[in-house]
Amino acid sequence: MRHKAILYNSITMSSNDINAFRLRLPRDERKHSWLPLLLDCYALIDFSVAQAIEQAEKSEKKLACHKGCAACCSQVIPLSTLECLGIKFYVQNILDPQHQAALHEKLNGPLATCLFNFAGCCAVYPLRPIACRRYLVCSRPCAKGEVPAVTRPADSLEPSREYLQQAIELTLPFYKEQNIPFKDNERGFEFYKRQNVQLSSAYANIIM
Ligand code: SF4
Ligand code: SF4
Repeated sequence: MRHKAILYNSITMSSNDINAFRLRLPRDERKHSWLPLLLDCYALIDFSVAQAIEQAEKSEKKLACHKGCAACCSQVIPLSTLECLGIKFYVQNILDPQHQAALHEKLNGPLATCLFNFAGCCAVYPLRPIACRRYLVCSRPCAKGEVPAVTRPADSLEPSREYLQQAIELTLPFYKEQNIPFKDNERGFEFYKRQNVQLSSAYANIIM
């Protein structure tokens, strides 16, 4: 498989480091062939995020993101079909019954922020989408409605684009199995952009 070959050739040197970020769900991974692809993808994304934070700290920048800070959870969140499947799996199989019930209740009312945001904590944190994982800001927390990439780009961290490409390419076997075509020589992010949806449009499908 072309995409897999590209990935493993270029990240072999760091594979142990990347494994440290890999969530392991052996029983579920045996049951769902798509799950290891998604968890590998997220491990590589998280590795690239850790690298970006390390680089920022070397430049004396201080990460502003912290538990309970969630102004960014009111933004439009793009994600792929596979990421939706991952959240659905998490909600149905791992999330505790109290949060499951609360999600159904919240879905029936107006939502000012992401459905999965509970007082600043993400209910699906281990399976949150790529967009949420890569969104990092230094210096001070975002103001409500602020888009730091526009208001203060120097404070917005940019984890490796190459790792982003490679992480998405790890998930392509899932789309091949689903007969969702990708073009020859297309890199992962271009494919992702062509087929992603907004998280808010997938809430009902995810929790039902
Ligand atoms: S991106 Fe902004 S709102 Fe989100 S956790 Fe970081 S500082 Fe807080
Ligand atoms: S999935 Fe989690 S991290 Fe992402 S917007 Fe929703 S609550 Fe925030």
